[in-house]
Amino acid sequence: MKRVIVTGGAGFIGSAVVRHLLSQPGFEVLNIDKLTYAANLDSLRDVADNARYRFLQADVADRQRMSQAFADFRPHAVMHLAAESHVDRSIDGPEVFVHSNVVGTVSLLIAALDYWRGLEGPDAAAFRFHHVSTDEVFGDLGETGAFTEDSPYQPSSPYSASKAAADHFVRAWARTYGLPVVLSNCSNNYGPFHFPEKLIPLIIMKCLGGEAIPVYGDGSQVRDWLYVEDHARALQAVMERGEPGDSYNIGGDAERTNLAVVHTVCDILDRHRPRQEGRHRDLITFVPDRPGHDRRYAMDFSKAEQTLGWRPQESFESGIEKTVQWYLDNGWWWEPILAGRYAGERLGLAAAGKKASGQGG
Ligand code: NAD
Repeated sequence: MKRVIVTGGAGFIGSAVVRHLLSQPGFEVLNIDKLTYAANLDSLRDVADNARYRFLQADVADRQRMSQAFADFRPHAVMHLAAESHVDRSIDGPEVFVHSNVVGTVSLLIAALDYWRGLEGPDAAAFRFHHVSTDEVFGDLGETGAFTEDSPYQPSSPYSASKAAADHFVRAWARTYGLPVVLSNCSNNYGPFHFPEKLIPLIIMKCLGGEAIPVYGDGSQVRDWLYVEDHARALQAVMERGEPGDSYNIGGDAERTNLAVVHTVCDILDRHRPRQEGRHRDLITFVPDRPGHDRRYAMDFSKAEQTLGWRPQESFESGIEKTVQWYLDNGWWWEPILAGRYAGERLGLAAAGKKASGQGG
């Protein structure tokens, strides 16, 4: 039995990782999550009663509690996903991003190092601290090319700066103290259980509500999209087969402009839930761009493909079809969120001093 601590396991990607690990017989999982606004234990409904699953509500920045969790659970690996993750919120309130993403990562590293130093030979050699990061640390890419693992760090937003800082601390713990770490940097994820402030679920919600679909700027920003369950598979591969000290780019081979993504979702909904008043595309409204918005990201994930044997199983077309269908079938999951803590309002205009009805991404 392999015991894995997953931090942020009540979030979008973390919950996919928890579900994925527990779908295999050889894993026990301790999910450590603070349960911020972005968390949803409903995403773990299917595993909550699994005897191989445990949950600890705690802040990763609380080092005492992290040390206690390591001592009690005695993990073979840590997959660190807990973070504040929304760029627009980082523009309105950067401090919590420094707390959770930077201080939180450092406190987890300190607790992990103490624990790792107490392990005997083979257990110490097999231990892994896997830090889960983003393509956004590399900043804005030109019209062509793709980020590699060696691309320079040039974060643009408070969110990406906090993730970049965390990546540097993780590498410092490997180099200075010898902690066996692995890192992965991934492009935009989408799929089931995605909080509706993010672009794809927000478009679906707006379409279903017959409301204006806000598109930032002219919608020509390019992102690479990866289906979340493909990411969960990639993360397991990195955790199990990644070379200590190395990082791995993970991507979906699916570059799309934001406007093309909006069009695709609208067209799928035209088939499944036609509007009497016209096409869903008619709901598109262009709104002021996000301050500092990066134009393009793209990932070269050939290293993960060649050394880990991983590549995405879903195309963008198959993944987005599944995703839209999931939202149509699972109102029980998202309707309480819209009725409560997030109603689709525009975030991230603090720097511009404006308010509008808006889109997340
Ligand atoms: P999310 O916002 O859906 O979930 C984050 C989870 O972390 C939430 O459950 C939250 O409660 C928890 N959390 C936040 N601060 C915490 C703290 N201080 N202590 C304990 N728990 C805390 O995020 P996500 O989209 O699932 O992203 C997960 C990770 O993957 C993040 O590290 C993010 O940077 C990275 N990532 C995300 C994407 C993407 O497209 N969503 C892409 C690449 C990398």
